Amino acid sequence: MLVDVHAHLYDKNLISRIDEIILEAEKNKVEKIICVSDNPTSAEKVLDISKKYKNIYACIGVHPSEAHLYNNSFASFLEKHGLDKKVVAIGEIGLDYHFQPYDKESQIYVFLEQLKIAYSLKLPIQIHCRDAMKDMLTLLNDNKDLLKYGGILHCFSGTLNDLEEIKRLGLKISVGGVITFKNAKTFQELIKQIPIEQLMFETDCPYLTPHPFRGNINEPKYLALTAEKVADLKEMNFSEVARITTENSFKLFNKLK
Ligand SMILES: [Zn+2]
Repeated sequence: MLVDVHAHLYDKNLISRIDEIILEAEKNKVEKIICVSDNPTSAEKVLDISKKYKNIYACIGVHPSEAHLYNNSFASFLEKHGLDKKVVAIGEIGLDYHFQPYDKESQIYVFLEQLKIAYSLKLPIQIHCRDAMKDMLTLLNDNKDLLKYGGILHCFSGTLNDLEEIKRLGLKISVGGVITFKNAKTFQELIKQIPIEQLMFETDCPYLTPHPFRGNINEPKYLALTAEKVADLKEMNFSEVARITTENSFKLFNKLK
């Protein structure tokens, strides 16, 4: 069994085929999927989907690129729905300095506000961090106390040093389809050095489809390709990798059942 810890099933390319997508996922060993929001509108959708489908769980929050959409009413929404049985985490929250222009101050403020809410709800977080690792590590170190319930850096792309720091902070990473890309040699070398206890898997669908399906719309059924690649790199059995990473997901997202 595999868990896809980060999927955007409400995306227009996926939602119209969601029943089929969930069935195909199950056929390919993906029995649990955490559906992650990026703004207040998708947060509502994520809740609806998680209520409708037994094996779909919710992670709600505002993505840094949508930070301007965060307000008091969304904060109350998080406080209320964070208590729902199927809301397993707050996210994706974080920093994204990739696309200009971005408002650093507002991203930091919105990240910290949501981090505080996650802590008050005793929920783990899903962190999005793009081209902002230095600021992210500083923020996390300055707010260590708020990390008691753990979290992941999704689609991690950093160095071994970053990873050591993330580990020290008690956080884990989730690995997506990028690890299967032919041009991902550095990341592949890095994964060999990371203990399997630090890892989980995600599709981040509809994006980042694993090799050899790059170019197709990503969906959870492709998750095993990522897990297989990690098993190869770490010279482990696929079933062992699946078992340990699934356990890691259950330990962190403890409302997964
Ligand atoms: Zn995402």
